[in-house]
Amino acid sequence: MTEKDIILKNLENINNNIEKACIKANRSVDDVKIIGVTKTIDIKRINILKELGIKTFGENKAQELLEKYDNIKDVSWHFIGNLQTNKVKYIIDKVDLIHSVNSLKLLSEINKRASYINKNMPILLEINIANEKSKTGLLAQDLPYIIDEIENFKNITLNGLMCVAPFVENPQQNTQYFRKMRKLFIDISYKNKDNINMKYLSMGMTNDYHIAIEEGANMIRIGTGIFGKRNY
Ligand SMILES: *Cc1c(COP(=O)(O)O)cnc(C)c1O
Repeated sequence: MTEKDIILKNLENINNNIEKACIKANRSVDDVKIIGVTKTIDIKRINILKELGIKTFGENKAQELLEKYDNIKDVSWHFIGNLQTNKVKYIIDKVDLIHSVNSLKLLSEINKRASYINKNMPILLEINIANEKSKTGLLAQDLPYIIDEIENFKNITLNGLMCVAPFVENPQQNTQYFRKMRKLFIDISYKNKDNINMKYLSMGMTNDYHIAIEEGANMIRIGTGIFGKRNY
């Protein structure tokens, strides 16, 4: 099989699973957006995915995003990895959504850099939903404080929440965490603030996106499921 055949077959498989999960959850497949996670993937294969209709890509390193940005046109880039504050200035004009905002310091830097270029930057807050020591992300208990501060950042719009759920053998084990995420998402939706507009619940990866969709995810971030195993 050619690279294109493989990616097409993988994508069809994913779309089937999305459909099944949506039927189970009584949701429309149009509600679920696939973010193609292109970290470590070469430009040729990213272009194949683009031809097959996925045009929103997630990268987790600023440098890698910059290299790809110049070579792949008419697509949307999302930042999904741990973002160092000193890298914000390089990507602020290039990304349409930052999924992984995990500190007040980062929020403040994004706001500052967005203001310099007169941009309003849509962001998601990353939640360390299972309180894992190995992971970045805000703890749920820190959310009220961050939410209170959001108003002060005029060049940011909070569009939702993101999480990376634990790596588990049985993805059903993550149901509890996805459910917690959805609760947090809904709670924040009730806040009446100018720059809060809760639209995206970014959760679910290759291992567990079907479960995440059943629990309300509307952005799923898939790498391995599309391209196969990454060679790190
Ligand atoms: C790598 C990565 C993904 C995709 O993971 P897969 O298991 O390959 O689908 C999703 N989200 C984030 C934040 C990632 O770093």
